[in-house]
Amino acid sequence: MTSRRQFIQIVPLASAAALLAAAGSAQAAMVEETDAQAKALGYVADAARADKGKYKQFAAGQHCGSCALYQGGNAPAGKCALFPGKDVANKGWCSAYAKKA
Ligand code: SF4
Repeated sequence: MTSRRQFIQIVPLASAAALLAAAGSAQAAMVEETDAQAKALGYVADAARADKGKYKQFAAGQHCGSCALYQGGNAPAGKCALFPGKDVANKGWCSAYAKKA
């Protein structure tokens, strides 16, 4: 049987474990449009703001979520091979866009 004293010792440990679990599932930092790599590729967090004058290859409907390099599935943000260590927005876009097969 768990004594009151044991219970009081267990609760903080369980809370700490829950916090660690939550932290482990947290998303990576997002790519900022001002990052050097983002600027070089014309990355925008919202494809609607893609520089259509500069990037003539842009076509309506293109966004990270439909790009072959996006690894986030249907999640609002996920990994892209071109931006290691950070997440790109599902609705983002960059000039390296490659339509999923
Ligand atoms: S390569 Fe694809 S997934 Fe990566 S930032 Fe550019 S459009 Fe988004």
